[in-house]
Amino acid sequence: MQFLLLLPLIFAACAPLRPLGPVSETQPVPTPVATEPVQEPVPEPQARDLDPGQIINVGVGFEKDSAAIECPEQKWQFKARENLGRIEVETKGECKYGEKTYRGGWAVLSTDSGLAIINAVPIEDYLKGLVPHEIGKLKPEEIEALKAQAVAARTYAYRHIGSRKSQGFDIYADVRDQVYNGKEGEDSLANIAIMATAGLVLKYEGNTIEAYYHSTCGGKTESAEIWGQEGKPYLQPVSDSAEGRVFCELSRYMKWEEKYSRAELVEMFQKNAADARADKIFPFSKIQQISITERFPGGRVKKLAVSTDKGSFEVFGDRTRRLFTREGKFLPGLFFDISQSGDTFTITGSGYGHGIGMCQMGTRARAREGQTFEEILKVYYTGVSIEK
Ligand SMILES: [Zn+2]
Repeated sequence: MQFLLLLPLIFAACAPLRPLGPVSETQPVPTPVATEPVQEPVPEPQARDLDPGQIINVGVGFEKDSAAIECPEQKWQFKARENLGRIEVETKGECKYGEKTYRGGWAVLSTDSGLAIINAVPIEDYLKGLVPHEIGKLKPEEIEALKAQAVAARTYAYRHIGSRKSQGFDIYADVRDQVYNGKEGEDSLANIAIMATAGLVLKYEGNTIEAYYHSTCGGKTESAEIWGQEGKPYLQPVSDSAEGRVFCELSRYMKWEEKYSRAELVEMFQKNAADARADKIFPFSKIQQISITERFPGGRVKKLAVSTDKGSFEVFGDRTRRLFTREGKFLPGLFFDISQSGDTFTITGSGYGHGIGMCQMGTRARAREGQTFEEILKVYYTGVSIEK
């Protein structure tokens, strides 16, 4: 996912970044994309001991007609709408599904709508197929960032076991939860970071936390209120800067700009209003004004009001990014200002992703400056402990 989204053309006009910190990178720093949970949060778990051999069921694919899983012992073929129910596939080796090879076992859930393909894998192996895709393949001087990412992703995984029960598995293998590609793209340094932190998760008052993370905060993180959720004590807005310098400043999304014509916005808003959960949906032909009427404590847009020739409507929080969906892409973030000149509206923003919890680009900079993964995680998740 990361590599598909790395070079969206719409950002080609971004001003070049001026590295101000001690890192003099001549190579552009690849910016990870954000993980965007789109469903409701999972209920607060009861304090309990975590099973170190815990298997997680990952929904790696869905097939409408047929599926094949190629294991060393046997090639398994499945046809949709036959043998309804859950079929377990036993294997001792690594199997291929689609173009990718995976560790662990398998299950196929056959329902009236098709086949859900489920990879049942120990959590520590799951992390090997995840960490390099979520934060990138990093250099040895950023190993503490890989460790921080491993702990955050492991915490997210334990917390979400059972959270997609209605789908027949625990977690999606894409940005709906965490990007997981089986053995494809595994990285030896990431594996070292995973083993060095084996079993460690983030807890608050004895409970595994909801460890959201994102690409680039742009200077300050935000609370989960941007999704209309109740605030959590460990997900608070925190500053990601020190001595006047923002840690994630090397991100290509530190500063961005989007321009729209008035006519284009009419068409976009009509198309996107439902997905953005606008408070009123009605046809209109002119936009008079777009204004930010309220901001969250961290500074992100809380309410955006649009006045048109046929009345006004409002959108709330993170859904605002969807109001501006263009060519299938949301607005990068919610940290923005909007200005108008003649028939052109300009949005200038900072950061990429929802802005909640750990900032991945800030994490990398902190690692390069010598912070440990424990120090880094405790910056982004307020008041947490790191426990086995
Ligand atoms: Zn940041």
